[in-house]
Formats: sequence, C-alpha cells, structure tokens
Amino acid sequence: MSAVKVTFLGTGSTGDPSRRCGSTAVSLPDGTVILVDTSGGNEIWHALREASIDVARIRVIVLTHQHLDHAAGLPFVLFRLAMAGMAADGYRGPIDVCAPAAAVDDLRRMCETLFPGMFTPWWIGDRVRWHGCTSDQYVWGLELRDDGTTSPTTARLGTPGDALPEGVVATISTMAVSHGAPPVPAQAVRIDAALANGEVRRVVISGDTGPNLGFTRFAGGVDLLIHEAIESESLGANPFLVFGTGHVTAASAGKVAAASRVKRLALHHLNARTGQHPETVRAEAAEHFTGEILVPNDLDTTEV
Ligand SMILES: [Zn+2]
Repeated sequence: MSAVKVTFLGTGSTGDPSRRCGSTAVSLPDGTVILVDTSGGNEIWHALREASIDVARIRVIVLTHQHLDHAAGLPFVLFRLAMAGMAADGYRGPIDVCAPAAAVDDLRRMCETLFPGMFTPWWIGDRVRWHGCTSDQYVWGLELRDDGTTSPTTARLGTPGDALPEGVVATISTMAVSHGAPPVPAQAVRIDAALANGEVRRVVISGDTGPNLGFTRFAGGVDLLIHEAIESESLGANPFLVFGTGHVTAASAGKVAAASRVKRLALHHLNARTGQHPETVRAEAAEHFTGEILVPNDLDTTEV
C-alpha cells in the first residue's frame, strides 16, 4: 500500500444507536496502524475485524479524552493485543498509549478495574508505554521510526512540502482542546505520515471539541481534517448552546476547515438526529467549506 489509509471504525457518539462510537484507524504505508480512540466497548473488536485490520499491527493508541464513547474500548484493544502476543510469531513489543496527561491514571485504573491482572506478565505486562500528553509546549509529539521504535519528541508541525526527519515514518502530535460539561482534559491529534517516495500526508482528528484558539495553526493545510459535527443548525441546534457543551455544529466545522485551508473535510461523531441526516450535515458545512466533504458511515475508508 503506497497511501495512508483512514478507516472510520465508528462515526457516532453515545447519542446515535445506529452508529458505532468514535474510533478511527490510520494505516501507514508499511502496515503499521495508529488507532485514534477506541469506541465504547467490545464494538471496537467487531469493527476492527469487519474492517480486516490486524490488531497485532496496532503500535500506537491515541485517546482524545476519557469519555466512555471514546475510551471504554481501550481494555478490549489491550486484551486483544495481549492475546495476539501469545501467538508463536506474535508481536510482543511495546505499545504506545497517548492520552491527555491528566487522564492517564484514570485510564490505567479503568483497564485494571475491568480486567484485573491486565498489566501483569501473564497478560500485557509492561508492554504498554503510557504517554501523558501536555500542552505546555503547545503540542506534544511521538515519532515512529522505520526500525519500529518510537520516542516522544517536541513536535515540529511541518507545513505542506516539508519532509519528515530521516528514518521517521510518522509523527503524532496533540493539542489540548476544550471539551465537556463539566470540562475534561481533551486533545486533537495530528498524524504526519511519510509515503515511500518521501512525500508526507497529514491528517488531523479534532476529537470532541468546542471552538479553540490555535486550531487553525494545528490543522493548517492538512490533507484531511476529521472533525466532530455532533449537531446541525439546519436541524434546529443553537450553536452557542452546543459550544457550551464543548462541541460544535456542522456549520462550525465547515468554518474551521475553511479557515484552516485543509484539502478535505470528514464529519463524524454524529448524534441520533444528525446521524440520520448526513446529507443535511454535509450541505451545512459546504456553505462554508468549498473542498470535498465526507460524512462517512462506519467502516468507510479513504486514502490520503
Ligand atoms: Zn466527549
């Protein structure tokens, strides 16, 4: 595979029973998978299987925040990775889990509570490397190199045309965003991935978020912006009430995409109402963003 492949494993939220909760898989040209969010439970395992994504290829899991529809699948993914490591030729190396720093202890405790013994040598042991992402340097980053190793770094947000450093196949950067009522630590995620010819493809996933200062810099000019659009003004939502819960409308997402000058926009994290009207959601964003807009269904894919 020469492209970066994005698989929308879950495009809904707690409010839309017809779609899986949020999770997106980004497959790099070498087959490595970066999983952003983990849906709300065992549904992540079904989605990975139906999408023919080998769980053993997941090297990095990024959680945008700890809400149940994004993080509750984490113990299921780690359990499957532990099982995969028991195969004769299974991967038994490290797995990087990146989450807002203030959420890491809670997430680890959740895994241990739901699966006592998960972090003993019988199961996944010390293979999980927890990374508490902080925003004190504006962005936090993780580098994946062509020898399979990873390390945290002070992220350099490249601009279109920049190459990645020698030997680096992808960088993962995060930026703190505003979300939740009450607020929870939350982050947007950016993946800069190198193709075999050295060109770089850039994907940003907003996570759940209200409006943010600095986001247009974080997402500036990327190839694909995957943005939440939980509500629709065309369907009667008041954008300011939506902002108050740390979310945005489809119109807001379209404005962010236009201001960020991204190439394409995908809208997800739909609720029970918007999930039933994807064309309305798309049209609302298209009033502000003239590029291609996707409103994917679960298991849809796109190449970047
Ligand atoms: Zn949330």
